[in-house]
Amino acid sequence: MTKRLLEGLRFRCTRCRSALPATARDWRCPECGDALALDGMPSFERESVDRSESSIWRYSPHVPPRDRVTLGEGWTPLIAAGRSKGAVLYKLEYLNPTGSFKDRGMSFLSTFLSAMKVGTVVEDSSGNAGASLATYAARANIHATIYVPSYTSPHKLSQISASGMECVSVPGPRADAARAVETAARAGAYYASHFWNPFALEGLKTFAYEVVEQLGWKCPDRVIFPCGHGTLLLGSYYGFETLRQAGVIETVPQLYCIQAAACAPIAEAFATQSDTVPAIRAGETVAEGIRIAEPARGREILSALRRAYDGHGRGRTGSPHRRRALQA
Ligand SMILES: [Zn+2]
Repeated sequence: MTKRLLEGLRFRCTRCRSALPATARDWRCPECGDALALDGMPSFERESVDRSESSIWRYSPHVPPRDRVTLGEGWTPLIAAGRSKGAVLYKLEYLNPTGSFKDRGMSFLSTFLSAMKVGTVVEDSSGNAGASLATYAARANIHATIYVPSYTSPHKLSQISASGMECVSVPGPRADAARAVETAARAGAYYASHFWNPFALEGLKTFAYEVVEQLGWKCPDRVIFPCGHGTLLLGSYYGFETLRQAGVIETVPQLYCIQAAACAPIAEAFATQSDTVPAIRAGETVAEGIRIAEPARGREILSALRRAYDGHGRGRTGSPHRRRALQA
């Protein structure tokens, strides 16, 4: 493993544009506290897609196979179901190695952690992200400690434990697990957060690449995402935007954020035309995986939703559909 992978890469603040080395252990901008993004990745080239690779790595031919931390994630089926006759397609993300889309980000992140020779990582999660990170860390010979709320269901804990990684149960609400992991990170562990880390977000762009390629390099009209922290929606938005800038598609599709009525901070902020997503008091819902009262990248998600609605100023604003949507 060489450090060549990291050449030319930087973290850049999504708000104040401050730059940091991509090897930095900061999980937020040290200047303003907002979220960081990855800068300096190669631009998308349709001709460079490795069609022999049935995973997210078909879009990263510049990363040598021996350097990838992979379990075959991505390239999930896009299928029509029921009587939709192709009008509605489902992307089967549960077929990823640990059962969730998080594997896209964790494969990508673990590859770069391995290049940086990081030995210890921490993460807070009440579910899929913890299991995904633990599994990929085991693959990369990195020690992971996952901080989980004490109410986390036993089957999720067993999935983390099966990887051989450490699981720390934190009493109290979800936010207490977040505080515990930040304390551990300040003591020197790498915070491999599925919502703060820029490498993890970068890996999620492959969802958009796959959808467009599986549609014969055509853009879908709309994409609907269940959202907790909203990272798949956000990573996909950046993926569609990368394809637009590369000339592969003309506009980004409209993106829909679906939240449980009892916990809908993004939907509420969107409806009130707020630029930020204030924390709410979360009610009970069976959709526990998206029960996030304060999404970490809320400001970015609102911006992505609005820009996607607008088709990046390419004329969708005036459509009756859009006017109805904005009035709703
Ligand atoms: Zn900043």
